[in-house]
Amino acid sequence: MREQPGHGVMPKSRLLQDKVVLVTGASRGIGAAAARTFSAEGATIVLTARNADAIERLADTIAGTGGAALAVPADVTDPASVERLVQAAVDKYSRLDAAFNNAGGGPMPRPLAEIAVADFESALRVNVLGIFLCLKYEIAAMLAGGGGSIVNTSSTAGLRAVPRIAGYVASKHAILGLTKTAALDYAASNIRVNAIAPGTILTERLQELDEGRREQISGQIPMGRLGRPEEVAKAGAWLLSDEAAYVTGATFDIDGGRMAAGA
Ligand code: NAP
Repeated sequence: MREQPGHGVMPKSRLLQDKVVLVTGASRGIGAAAARTFSAEGATIVLTARNADAIERLADTIAGTGGAALAVPADVTDPASVERLVQAAVDKYSRLDAAFNNAGGGPMPRPLAEIAVADFESALRVNVLGIFLCLKYEIAAMLAGGGGSIVNTSSTAGLRAVPRIAGYVASKHAILGLTKTAALDYAASNIRVNAIAPGTILTERLQELDEGRREQISGQIPMGRLGRPEEVAKAGAWLLSDEAAYVTGATFDIDGGRMAAGA
């Protein structure tokens, strides 16, 4: 509750109150944090990832805090799977208001000439084809519902080169092109499409790095520390919300100032 001058105590409004929000890559890391954060902001969440047990557990956790969540396992690289996912959301909740397209990944780092063709293709499949398929089916559902808002997860590796991860870098750059094109295609249809570019975020995966390596990375970040998954989620919540009503086709860096300091 907050004091409003002249209006007494007003209930604090939540950013995603009553919105139906799809979160991909929700089984761990940034996606799981996003699902919890969006729920706390009032959203009903449709959780997806390939790991059915993990998203079921998260749905139970969200229900335990008084929120609502539906777990629907899906593989974002499979068109039929993504179509079924979006249909399950619409069947259950009658509409889809927003989507956080966060599922992604990349193979082990290697200099470009040593990257196996299959590994390069797998990065493109999950990061580019996966985002394309999510956009394709989400937008169709949002058009039927009168509008919506989408956030695609790129990376600061979508804004600059990073050695030894050519497939990841190429695919994260491509996400920004997809985001801007989708934003233009649907700007007049009340659908906003934006991207986020997280820097180094302390997920379970990064926690496995030894402390020396984490300190070395922190030393390259103007704010002097890695980001937290919740900090990415909060920026995503704002972009998905009606508070960002005039923002579309944009990329939002969430990186402790690293891109501002130059690659
Ligand atoms: P993570 O812990 O590796 O989680 C990746 C998520 O994507 C998992 O939930 C995984 O679930 C899901 N996923 C992967 N392939 C999938 C597929 N084919 N179909 C459906 N789901 C799939 O990653 P994270 O660190 O949280 O990163 C999340 C996003 O942020 C990624 O796009 C990543 O590139 C981006 N990012 C991360 C950082 C960072 O420092 N952590 C920085 C910049 C950008 P299942 O395995 O259960 O399917």
